[in-house]
Parts: sequence; C-alpha cells; structure tokens
Amino acid sequence: MQTQLLPANEAGIAFAARLLQEGQTVAIPTETVYGLAADATSNEAVAKIFAAKGRPQDNPLIVHIAAMQELEGLVRTVPAAAYKLAQAFWPGPLTIIMPKGPKVADAVCAGLDTVAIRMPSHPVAAAVIKKSGLPLAAPSANRSGLPSPTTADHTLRDMDGRIPLILDGGACKVGVESTVITVAADTPTLLRPGYITKEQLEQVLGEPVALSDAILHKLKEGEAAPSPGMKYKHYSPKANVILLKGSQQAYREYVCQHAEVGVFAMCYDEEVSSLPVPCVVCGSRQDEAAQARRLFAALRECDEKGAVTVYAHCPKPTGVGMAVYNRLIRAAAFQVVELEAAKL
Ligand code: AMP
Ligand code: MG
Repeated sequence: MQTQLLPANEAGIAFAARLLQEGQTVAIPTETVYGLAADATSNEAVAKIFAAKGRPQDNPLIVHIAAMQELEGLVRTVPAAAYKLAQAFWPGPLTIIMPKGPKVADAVCAGLDTVAIRMPSHPVAAAVIKKSGLPLAAPSANRSGLPSPTTADHTLRDMDGRIPLILDGGACKVGVESTVITVAADTPTLLRPGYITKEQLEQVLGEPVALSDAILHKLKEGEAAPSPGMKYKHYSPKANVILLKGSQQAYREYVCQHAEVGVFAMCYDEEVSSLPVPCVVCGSRQDEAAQARRLFAALRECDEKGAVTVYAHCPKPTGVGMAVYNRLIRAAAFQVVELEAAKL
C-alpha cells in the first residue's frame, strides 16, 4: 500500500474524512501524540488499526469525539463525575472510562464492558471527526511497543506502506498520551498519568483519586491490569535504556564511570556540558511540560544516533513528571539504578 503524507489543510481533512467513511485508517495529529484513526462503530475498520500497529487484540482503544452530544449511544450513562471532568478538561488531553454503549464496535473495547472516551482539542483532529461524522477509535500511531510518534515524520517511519494517509499537522504540543481516569468503579482511579495531573483531577472532583499500582510499578506475573495497555513493554527504542535515580552530581559521576563507546546520556539541558558522552536532551530540569513534549522524540533520537546504552536521568514522579516517569520506566523495561544506594 502507498502511504500519502498530506498537509492538514481543508483538502487533506476532506480526503481523510472520506477514507474514514470508507472504513480505512488515517493517521491524524492530536495535541497529545499522532493517532491512528478509524470508524469506532465498525469492527472491520477497527481491525485495520490493530493490524497496522501489530497491537495485541486485548488492548482496548480510545474513542475520540468532537461534541458532548456524540456521547449518546457510545456510553450507557454519563456518571456525574465524568460530566464534571468533561466540563473542566474537554476538549483536552483527558480520557474518561465510562460504561460502554451499543454504538461502539466490540473490537474497540477488547471485550470490556467499559469504553474510553476523549474529546481532543487539536483543531485538525476535531475537524476530521466533524467532517467524517464518525466517532474515531485512535490509539497512538506507532508500531506496537515503539515510542509514540509526535511528528508526521515519526508516524511515516512506523506506518509507511501500512496505511493510506497521514495528515501532517506539525509537532504535538503535549507530547505524551492522554491522562486516563476511570469513573466506572466507586473510587475514581488514575490508570495512566498525562499532562492533566492527579492534583488537577482531585481539585475538580472534590475527592481523592486513587493511583493504579501499574503506573509506577511493574505488574507481578499473572496480575490483572486495570488498564490492559499497562501490561505491555512499551515506548522502547532499540537501545537499552536504564534509569538512574539520584542527584545531579551522582548522575554525572555514574555516567563518567560508565562512559564507554555507545553510551549516551538522556539528560536535562543543564547537565549536557558536564557529561563526557553524547547527550540527548529532554528539556530543562524544572520544566516538566517540556520534558513530556520532548520525551518520545528523544527516545527515537537515541536510536537514530546509534546509542547502545542510554542512561536516562530519572524524573520525579509528581505532577506532569509522573507521566514522563511512567513512560520512561517502561522504555527502560523497569531497569532502575538507585544511585545513592549504589554508592554505599
Ligand atoms: P493508546 O490509545 O495507544 O494511547 O492506548 C490506550 C490506553 O487506554 C491503553 O493503555 C488502554 O489499556 C487504555 N484503555 C482503553 N480503553 C480502556 C478501558 N475500557 N478500560 C481501561 N483502560 C482502557
Ligand atoms: Mg499507544
């Protein structure tokens, strides 16, 4: 299959809408990452997403809408908490899990009786949804297991020959996938951290939000994942990524002691000048939003530059940093070196 890369102008958006109505897949820009979209009401269309990505069938997809009225039929009910969150954060990078309605194709939810819904704020994503008149199932547009794409070029590298069209809407502003919260159970629970933080969700809901264990820790063998995507190895470049936890000084000392050929540092802007190995920067230490925006491009850059081992300076798992930590620790397959402890 020939993959076209078109600018996300009126003609491109109209072409994308037509392909989607015909049951094809199209990669579109969103504010989080590039998404691989298809008609969420068609099992056949959705099957093409799983095939193009090589995504395990039991990992459900997020359905994207452009207006609140479109929820009808997609969800069975809109719980009060979901309504509050939608009012506060939609359109935007928040996905809410609700009871599944009859319109959603079964393949989207991988057999679950809940459905994940998001209203993206990116004007191109919104325009494609409106023009097609369809709710769009859209996971990140990477090959399963690789870092999510934050530019049309990254998307092309993963999807060339596998899908008919990619719309180029420039670089994604948020850079990590949406925050996922479930309100389908009694206690609202964060399933995946993102740009919208736990604290922001708690403020709007007026109650504590629980943290799914799988966010910061590796699931035990055989343990059920509340969000199936959490159980897979994820976001991994070819290079072996290892997280180093500790102060700036401890990080520098460790990298200096291990500065062999093929070793790269994934570090903060402020650290570059003191490190003796090639560096891939991930933004300023204090600027968690910049780190989130840069993260996936930085992981891809490590492979492009031929890194064998990447020592990444571990971020604090709070605020937007929790999203960065959650993605990095999966990219590192949970390999973490506690530097201060390593010194003892
Ligand atoms: P992606 O679209 O690639 O960002 O992945 C979607 C994420 O949402 C995955 O981690 C899924 O496991 C999660 N997800 C989608 N639907 C549900 C659902 N009904 N319940 C729990 N998690 C879900
Ligand atoms: Mg994904």
